[in-house]
Amino acid sequence: MTDSLRDLAYSTSSFFARFDVHPSVPDAIQNFREEVNELIEAATDATDKAHIAEEAADVMVTAIGVCIASGVSVDQLIEQVYKVIAKNDAKTHATHVHLDGKIRRRVPKAE
Ligand SMILES: [Mg+2]
Repeated sequence: MTDSLRDLAYSTSSFFARFDVHPSVPDAIQNFREEVNELIEAATDATDKAHIAEEAADVMVTAIGVCIASGVSVDQLIEQVYKVIAKNDAKTHATHVHLDGKIRRRVPKAE
């Protein structure tokens, strides 16, 4: 997954470079919103798994586009992906609980 995500990030970056595209943040956000809505529609409909996967991939590409437009490097994004993986992998039933549709910390963070 992370290798494919890394490939997607580099592919998106070189795709923009090939067409000399420097997306603005508002344009990138607009593209991202459109793809998020398409994914929500596909998942709500829930009949076509391939279509859901296709829209999820579009969401990932456009999220990468938001990062690129915002000046986030591919390496920075990948580094963050690994941090999220490590954080989620460290969560256990002792530290977290599934509640109200979300996996939540058992003891809320001190403010
Ligand atoms: Mg789409």
